[in-house]
Amino acid sequence: MANTKSTESQHHQFQTEAKQLLHLMIHSLYTHKEVFLRELVSNASDALDKLRFESLTNPSLIDDKTELAIKIKVDKTAKTITISDNGIGMSRKDVMDNIGTIARSGSKAFLEKMTGDQKADSNLIGQFGVGFYSVFMVASSVKLYTKLAGSDEPAVVWESSGESEYTLSETEKETHGTDIVIYLKDEEGQYAEEHQIRSLIKKYSDFIAFAIYLPDEKGKEQIINQTKPLWLRSASAITTEQYEEFYQQVIGGIGSPLSTLHNRAEGILEYSSLLFIPSKSPFDLFSMDRKHGVKLYVKRVFIMDDCKEILPEYLRFVRGVVDSEDLPLNVSRETLQHNAVMGKISKTLVGKILGKLQELAEKEPQTYKSFWQEFGPVFKEGLHSDFENREKLLELVRFQSSMGQSKDDLVSLKQYVERMRPDQKDIYYITGDSREIVEKSPHLEVFKSKSIEVLYLVDPIDEWIINDIYNFQEKKLKSVTQGDLDLGELGKEEEESRKKSDTKYKKLSERIKNILADSVKEVRTTTRLKDSPACLVADANAMGAHMEKMMKAMGQDVPAQKRILEINTQHPILQNMNERYQKDPKDPELEQWSSLLFEGALIAEGQMVPDPMAYSKRVNDLLVKVSSI
Ligand code: ADP
Repeated sequence: MANTKSTESQHHQFQTEAKQLLHLMIHSLYTHKEVFLRELVSNASDALDKLRFESLTNPSLIDDKTELAIKIKVDKTAKTITISDNGIGMSRKDVMDNIGTIARSGSKAFLEKMTGDQKADSNLIGQFGVGFYSVFMVASSVKLYTKLAGSDEPAVVWESSGESEYTLSETEKETHGTDIVIYLKDEEGQYAEEHQIRSLIKKYSDFIAFAIYLPDEKGKEQIINQTKPLWLRSASAITTEQYEEFYQQVIGGIGSPLSTLHNRAEGILEYSSLLFIPSKSPFDLFSMDRKHGVKLYVKRVFIMDDCKEILPEYLRFVRGVVDSEDLPLNVSRETLQHNAVMGKISKTLVGKILGKLQELAEKEPQTYKSFWQEFGPVFKEGLHSDFENREKLLELVRFQSSMGQSKDDLVSLKQYVERMRPDQKDIYYITGDSREIVEKSPHLEVFKSKSIEVLYLVDPIDEWIINDIYNFQEKKLKSVTQGDLDLGELGKEEEESRKKSDTKYKKLSERIKNILADSVKEVRTTTRLKDSPACLVADANAMGAHMEKMMKAMGQDVPAQKRILEINTQHPILQNMNERYQKDPKDPELEQWSSLLFEGALIAEGQMVPDPMAYSKRVNDLLVKVSSI
């Protein structure tokens, strides 16, 4: 224990957001107050991890005799709890940066996510790393004595009652590490009972890898946790609750994981892995500086958080721990990139995760669906980057489709092929911004009339991965808005009737083409449409309209692509236009009508017309004419 020597103390104000958070801790969260203990113990364990890691390059930081451990003491009469660690400790500046401010984005996100539901909010405490402040749920004041390992700076004591300010003074402390003395509020005295601490440690911190000591009734120090890291214990000896607790405390997961993969590899390579597929995506899954959720340990020594080399980007939602026996203790992020051992571990783990997902897809389709809804868009990136596992990934991807009743009805490529119409050759898809838009697209008319299923590709990433899929079980994937439509036997009737009218509409098609020369590259008769007069299609190899729109939205300079206007000769508008053309090929009305056909086709697929004013004038003129007849 430390003694305050210098009494000259400096007063500091908490940063505004820290104040806000403290206020919430003290006044709003009443349930689950006990979590303060696990937060402080987990900080102590992190500090021990950091010291052990630093000592790999600077062995003088710890002497061989010192056991890295956490010690807890309680005083029932004084209502105090003291939590000590001989870990890395903090400098004066560290204390000000870490304990006086909430600079980290996670804490801001915590404040934003507060729901007012106390149970949910207290669960958020661990997730966003606002842990230390939780002590003020039970404490009327707190003193933190700390000394940075390997530094000549004097130790400091930080003191606060959690309201708006704290004081910092120099102190004397023999050993490096941190002692936190908690002065409990009168009504929270129960936490200063030995049995209470014992049961809370069992409940929340049993898996901490360092020994946690607590004196028993006779004053003899005893280890009160299991100390063997959870991932090294045999899976059969671990309860679901323990896994869950570990997932929340150590991994920072929310709620229960969707699936847990606990493995031990023995043989050429030796390592243990405890990985979790979360049930909810984190708030920053798509952010550029998103952290990877796998911690790397080497021979039980913590090496790094967020180890990107363990799993590929597309599995970045997986969280957990990997502990290797073969990697050197001095691995760095740089050397890991080309490390053969890491390469092999990664390959095996990817295989295990994909295997687990396959198992869920087969045996627990509902669970798999909820996985897909959370992580599908990220997972699909794998089709672009992981060619080795292409076949497995193709079995795991799911899409919405025209056969589904809602967003929740998903289809796999395998299922699609199984339920294809007997004469159907290709797999059809449409891309767009949302299900609501694509399902009304005129391009689907003939498909609907023949009950041919069309996949709805409505995730932004789909445009990119669709080219990577290219074909499945020797069936080509074809866009219903691109290239010629050849339904073979299935479209025989439409093709015959198109051919019959083709000559009859040849001249009109040319006339429309001349009118719309700036906007379309060709006008031709179609087999795609049933109810609509016209639609736009891109060349088979050109960029589709949706891709063009997305590229533009990303600020890319894409040259405008002219598309082909396909006309439905069964539609009264076209029949009428053809009659007019026969009477007078120069009829000026044809110009207005052609423009309207083109603009109508754009609107039908969810695009903007190039000149809304001109469009609206055309429609108004037409209405005036009709109403004056
Ligand atoms: P988190 O642990 O999620 O970062 P906390 O509010 O619990 O958030 O702690 C803030 C920071 O204070 C920690 O990241 C760490 O740098 C420092 N800290 C807290 N407790 C200790 C300790 N016992 N030893 C050393 N540093 C600590």
